[in-house]
Amino acid sequence: TSLVRGLAAGQTGGLQVTEPGRSRAESRDRQKGTQMPPDTGVYSDKLRAILPTARWALRLIWSTSPGILIGLVTLVVVLGVLPAGQALTVRGLVDAAVLALGTPDISFSALRVWLGLAFTLAVVEAVGLKLQVYLGSRLNDELNLRINTDLLDHSARLDVAFFEDPRQRDLIARTRQNTAGQLVQFTTQFLRAIMNMFRSVSLVSVLAYIDPLVLLVVPPFAIPFLGFQWKLARDRYAEQHKRTTKLRWTSYFVGVMTGSGSVGEVKLLGIGPLLMRRYRELMEEFRLRDRRLHLRNLVGGSTAAVLVIVAVFAIFVRVAYRAVQGGASLGDLAVFAGATARLRMAIDQAIVALTSSAEQVLFISNLEKFMQVEPRIATRGILTPPLDRGSIEFRNVTFAYPGSREPVLRDLSLQIDPGETLAIVGENGAGKSTLVKLLARFYDPDQGSVLVDGVDLKDVSIEHLHRRMGLVLQTFGRYETTVAENIAYGNVDDLLDDPVQVAELARAVGLHEKIESLEEGYETHLGRMFGAVTFSGGQWQRIAAARALARDASLLVLDEPTSNLDAIGEHELFTSFSKLARGRTTLLVSHRFTTLSMADRIAVMAEGRIVELGTHEELCAEGGVYATLYGFYEQLLPDNRRPNQSS
Ligand code: ADP
Ligand code: MG
Repeated sequence: TSLVRGLAAGQTGGLQVTEPGRSRAESRDRQKGTQMPPDTGVYSDKLRAILPTARWALRLIWSTSPGILIGLVTLVVVLGVLPAGQALTVRGLVDAAVLALGTPDISFSALRVWLGLAFTLAVVEAVGLKLQVYLGSRLNDELNLRINTDLLDHSARLDVAFFEDPRQRDLIARTRQNTAGQLVQFTTQFLRAIMNMFRSVSLVSVLAYIDPLVLLVVPPFAIPFLGFQWKLARDRYAEQHKRTTKLRWTSYFVGVMTGSGSVGEVKLLGIGPLLMRRYRELMEEFRLRDRRLHLRNLVGGSTAAVLVIVAVFAIFVRVAYRAVQGGASLGDLAVFAGATARLRMAIDQAIVALTSSAEQVLFISNLEKFMQVEPRIATRGILTPPLDRGSIEFRNVTFAYPGSREPVLRDLSLQIDPGETLAIVGENGAGKSTLVKLLARFYDPDQGSVLVDGVDLKDVSIEHLHRRMGLVLQTFGRYETTVAENIAYGNVDDLLDDPVQVAELARAVGLHEKIESLEEGYETHLGRMFGAVTFSGGQWQRIAAARALARDASLLVLDEPTSNLDAIGEHELFTSFSKLARGRTTLLVSHRFTTLSMADRIAVMAEGRIVELGTHEELCAEGGVYATLYGFYEQLLPDNRRPNQSS
């Protein structure tokens, strides 16, 4: 259940009430709790549609642990025919006893065979059931390991675009809902269904041998029950399917109300009761719907059970009558007495297990769908050019996020020379981070191309590109590990065992003294999830900058890398940073004029376009957007040390 938790980061945390670029009204609707975006997931619950998935699941289980599966199937068959064997033994025993009663010279020895057989069957059943539990748990463990690692492997191959696509959120959420457990459930229920089918068929055969009328009575009652259960299973699944988005809302509320990053503000604003009410509304809706399903299960299930009992008892009565008349033996009567209850239970369980294994298949279809998602960007491009000059060119790039028609970048062209530092400035939502994502090839442009050293990125191997690029994303990572490793992640191949180099990087971002002052120095665990020490936003940002520097890269891309730093800290960071960054092409998104003035050129972005481009002096002389902003800045100079708000 805990798998891929990292992938959902940001799904529950944070207090992002208004997302960038979304209108207030739209955001308000999304928060209301009652007006949710419609669920776009489609599925088919036709029997024909689930069979391929069932086959897929069985193959997966088979390839995970064939031995265990063979063992379980064998047990199912043995345990399945066992009750019939027991019924026959009882019949033999009673008939032999009756015979012994009537004729004094027949000794007890005639009973011995039947008693021995009954004993053996009892032992086999007891041990078999325990063995079944054991093998079931073993399969559970194997599948858990296999499915969760497969899921992570597959996720690692997928494009960033997939995870950022809001239309995929529900599929991702469904896949993360205990998928291994669903596979285990499917196997258990499926095997239980087979076992009980064996039981029903063998018991019916025994009873039919005594009174063939059983064959006429049992199926007409069992089949409608099967239909009813299948309908119920489908409705249960449909309910869960529909519920995914709302379940995500509930976990969002839980996250906001219990997450360390958000509880403070929730308390301050006093919005706890409001969030709680929305949470309750959803939970109560779930409860109501579940109650209806449970009730239907109760009513339908007991009706069917009573009907089957009536049918079987009618025949029971007939056999009892015949026994008294001498048409049937006492053994026959004993078989009916013992077997009818077991038969009813076997039929009931066969049907319930069969339909609930089919229900699990519906859930498993989400896993199958997820595993069938193919990376599109990550697999294309095989070139590994040196990329050591570091020239960047955006050539007539137009781009809209998948699922949205509004382009974020519009016919944008921009050239950055090798070794140049180019700063990009622009208001929130102008498309700066999107530009960075295209350069990192999280997405491909819809039109135009992005080139590095004259090579179209579409042709470049994505792993290779990432190795040649030092990047600080606006949503940089804060990893739960030691300080040293947090920095070494910038270049895992070389730095994990290189404390000297790590310390040098820490110095470059002005963190060395701070780290040394910690009790365990570079070995201090960072992050509150597992440790006691964490950094401030600015200090984390310095770590992220150190990671970017750690790359053996000709390109440095920094998306608002100093938004959490104060003005002095930022100046320090950049002075030492630019020493190490010298000779590398740097693309820097920033709002800070102290930073901007260090750049060779500045590009001003607005609504997906570059509207101004030039040196600080040129832009000031031009008297455009930049000059206006700079004018404000100079007026406000005494206040400018407030940390910038990130966009
Ligand atoms: P900036 O970094 O300049 O503030 P962004 O590049 O982050 O702006 O965003 C530009 C626009 O693209 C915004 O309108 C934003 O809402 C939209 N946007 C950003 N990320 C996504 C995404 N993953 N899916 C859909 N739209 C997005
Ligand atoms: Mg941004």
